Amino acid sequence: MIKKTPERFINDKIQGLWQMVGNTAMIAVWYRYKNNAEQRILVKVEHSNLTGSIKDRMALYILQKAYGQGKIKPGYTIVEATSGNTGISFAAIGKALGHKVKIFMPDWMSRERIEMIRSYGAEIRLVSKEEGGFKGSIQMAEMLQHDERVFLPRQFANQYNVEAHKETTGREIGHQLLLMNTKPNAFIAGVGTGGTVMGVGKFLSALYPEIQIHPLEPAESPTLTTGHKVGNHRIQGISDEFIPPIVDLKSLNKVVQVNDGDAILMAQRLGKELGLAVGISSGANFLGAVKIQQELGLKSVVVTVFPDRNGKYLSTDLFKAEPVRDGYITPQVKLLNYQVLN
Ligand code: PMP
Repeated sequence: MIKKTPERFINDKIQGLWQMVGNTAMIAVWYRYKNNAEQRILVKVEHSNLTGSIKDRMALYILQKAYGQGKIKPGYTIVEATSGNTGISFAAIGKALGHKVKIFMPDWMSRERIEMIRSYGAEIRLVSKEEGGFKGSIQMAEMLQHDERVFLPRQFANQYNVEAHKETTGREIGHQLLLMNTKPNAFIAGVGTGGTVMGVGKFLSALYPEIQIHPLEPAESPTLTTGHKVGNHRIQGISDEFIPPIVDLKSLNKVVQVNDGDAILMAQRLGKELGLAVGISSGANFLGAVKIQQELGLKSVVVTVFPDRNGKYLSTDLFKAEPVRDGYITPQVKLLNYQVLN
């Protein structure tokens, strides 16, 4: 047997893990809006990643780059502030690479997320509103930055988060569109760190200069529009309490807002009517894509992502009856079927 140094071994492991991260399917979800003709939204379905969300791409990419640059070495602890999926990704991938993982997160995140992170052996420090909530979590993680043998991925400020989505999510979408011989008119994605919208945006804009790239936020808490935390919302994973440093709104098209209840209704219906059991932000992304497609016209090609599935939201309103309110567009959308693309 060839004896491997730890670094060589880790490099092989990272290469192996890419087989379980990325290369996700693209589907066409067919629907009818009001009495319009049948239309489709193209969706990258991300729950087949190792831990069930799009964030595995960013976590694995950042760790790969950090190893390449000697910023993390065997024995280091990975420390990150996160609202959930990122913690799950770093916990799983960090553990697979032999690291201890410590996660700071607001204490109002769903129980499932907290327990899932713990199930990967990571340590969690829950941060209350009084301690600063989301911003407090980031500050607490930053306080460990000078400790030896600590690596902070800093997902909100790390350009490799954007690059991960440019080089994997964006490149895959570009390739899948080419195979379909289809030119996209718009891409839309809810903004958490903004890695997805910025990275996919960069890749697709280089190929298709005319494409519109839309960030999406909850109408109840329009952080991107106002620049700060305004209210509470139920679309976990997007619209935290500030505009992330990696988000450059000037390089993007207009911000699209959706109501969180509308997103919940849509996520519920994607599961009940099509068998696509997705998380709340997927419902939001789908609605945002429908809104943009209604503006751009029947034949426009609009692409989005379903970042995760519904299992992490069992204790949330996603599994409760949600009232329909004025202005919601979910009731106007008749879901027809979906088709997996090559
Ligand atoms: N949806 C969910 C469920 C998420 O966990 C995240 C990541 N926080 C997003 C959407 C937004 O992705 P990004 O951080 O790339 O903007």
